[in-house]
Amino acid sequence: MSPVRLAVTGATGRMGRAVIDAAIDRGHDVVLAVNRSPDRGSIQDVEITDSADVETRLEDRPVDVIVDFTGPESSVRYAEMAADARIPIVVGTTGFDEGQSDRLAAAATRTPLLRAANFSRGIYALQRAVEVAARALPGYNIEVTETHHNAKLDAPSGTAKELLALIDRIRGESEPVHGREGHAPRQDPEVGVHARRAGDITGEHEVLLAANRETLELTHRASDRGVFAAGALDAAEWLVDQDPGYYEFAAVIEDS
Ligand code: NAD
Repeated sequence: MSPVRLAVTGATGRMGRAVIDAAIDRGHDVVLAVNRSPDRGSIQDVEITDSADVETRLEDRPVDVIVDFTGPESSVRYAEMAADARIPIVVGTTGFDEGQSDRLAAAATRTPLLRAANFSRGIYALQRAVEVAARALPGYNIEVTETHHNAKLDAPSGTAKELLALIDRIRGESEPVHGREGHAPRQDPEVGVHARRAGDITGEHEVLLAANRETLELTHRASDRGVFAAGALDAAEWLVDQDPGYYEFAAVIEDS
């Protein structure tokens, strides 16, 4: 893979730092590292640009692709900026509402945009396994549990929401029930959803299927953010060659 000129937004955040480290390891050129109210001068010798100055900097420096891990409203703003500048953008942020998702889709009509709630290849494999299990085990009770670090803002996680959507597509109908309290007997077609927040856990997702005196537990655990950073960079390298449009991480995996 030839080196790409990368802009990273959310550069001093947990994911931004992991992306910059992985990009430099792969020999890419991080030409712009942007953060809101930069709390330090540089990461790996890459100077941090204040988000207020990003438009001017984008005009100065050629960028092949932007990788964004910020927050929903900021990501939409960067996606619209990328569309104006015709720069491909990889969006890793989660927690978008419907209006924000629509704005991302509108930006994708003008520039290649790839959005994924999870850049782990293991999660892609988990999703495929859940598809098989939900088809093979009709009527089995399903519960989805996710566990993340104590600073995660959105709940349930974007990945848990994607798993719920996938189960809903296969089952035809399902009713997410978020936690249970008091007198709460399980009723079909509910799917229990549980979000745990503790310590510095990178990310865990479990799908439990049970009935007929058997239990199937499908679990994915990420132990390092480098996993997501690697996937986001795979996506960035792939996206620079695409036409404007809305892409998912599955396209990158299925194309490799
Ligand atoms: P974080 O809070 O550690 O980092 C976010 C960074 O973005 C912070 O440094 C913040 O100051 C910065 N920021 C906010 N608004 C900005 C703006 N307008 N311009 C520039 N920088 C801005 O969070 P994190 O753990 O790195 O996660 C970021 C997002 O990525 C979350 O939505 C999280 O759920 C998601 N995430 C996705 C994946 C994936 O694989 N897709 C993996 C992990 C986290």
